[in-house]
Amino acid sequence: TPIEDLSPRRAKLEYSRLAEQLAEYDRRYYQDDSPAVSDAEYDALRQRYEALEKAFPELASDASLTKKVGAAPAEKFAKIKHVVPMLSLGNVFADEDVHEFVARVRRFLGFADEAPLFFTAEPKIDGLSCSLRYEKGALVYAATRGDGYEGEDITANIRTLEEIPQRLNGESWPDVLEARGEVYMRREDFFALNERQAAANKPLFANPRNSAAGSLRQLDPKVTASRPLRFFAYSWGEVSVMPADTQYGMVQALASFGLPTNPLTKICVGADEMLAHFRDIEARRATLGYDIDGVVYKVDDIGLQIRLGFVSRAPRWAVAHKFPAEQAKTIVRGIDINV
Ligand code: NAD
Repeated sequence: TPIEDLSPRRAKLEYSRLAEQLAEYDRRYYQDDSPAVSDAEYDALRQRYEALEKAFPELASDASLTKKVGAAPAEKFAKIKHVVPMLSLGNVFADEDVHEFVARVRRFLGFADEAPLFFTAEPKIDGLSCSLRYEKGALVYAATRGDGYEGEDITANIRTLEEIPQRLNGESWPDVLEARGEVYMRREDFFALNERQAAANKPLFANPRNSAAGSLRQLDPKVTASRPLRFFAYSWGEVSVMPADTQYGMVQALASFGLPTNPLTKICVGADEMLAHFRDIEARRATLGYDIDGVVYKVDDIGLQIRLGFVSRAPRWAVAHKFPAEQAKTIVRGIDINV
């Protein structure tokens, strides 16, 4: 039924049914690493839920899924409170939404027409986000995003990742540095893992994202050690002294400390350059060797990021430009997808 034809009573009924269904899908996806439906199906329900809430604002409450990030940490893990929350990103799908995003940011900042405003554009890695805390150059703990405020303690598991340094390079790192980024699995490693799972009569993983999440969120770090997980750093949490004042400079600093960063990050001025980089990344997508589900644009100047701040669960200074849903995932259908 089109939303405009719904009575408030029917809207409420559908809204609460959707809320229940989405909460269950979130639990399966974030806590069990075993999605019940494809991302495209999930996103469609989610869009309907958000549209209902927009048309019937009285439905929205503090419990609304639009205000939540991820899911609560699973009971089987110790919890870690994030000093700086790990939030989500707003999504856009169309070119005109990217123009609108840039215009909105410029308006908010009061930028004059001719004043250049720089953005970074980088692949959106389809894995799970993690925060790595270094003190005096040594890795002290690592946590998943969880519900954004509290994540799961996965320190022992993260220590098994070859790409993640136990000690940062050089000596110019800040005393406290939380590096954030995505743990992911390369496609060939995902296929090889599924072959091993099949040979051992174990359940298969649905896609590289879920195999990365399932492999990292293990109680026994030996299992994680046997899984080829990788990492791209693209953000930060608490930092005692900022080594740079731009997004691009911060990521370069993380690279200089020995953390892997994505080579396809580019500085762009204006929506046309951002869209050109989006198309370039989209064209290379099949040959990257790992799954990405879009491109993330971020205001480059960190001072401006701070001025822009956050709305609810996402920054005002960044947005994810998603690839069209039908190509978004290689879901293996008709198999038992579980960990
Ligand atoms: P999101 O994944 O769309 O965007 C936010 C996340 O992007 C960040 O937390 C970060 O982890 C990640 N990211 C990757 N590369 C990044 C980069 N370069 N810079 C910044 N961030 C980067 O939002 P979300 O709220 O975490 O999750 C929603 C997604 O999860 C949707 O795609 C949805 O389809 C999927 N999902 C699927 C199911 C299902 O049942 N299939 C259930 C729940 C969620």
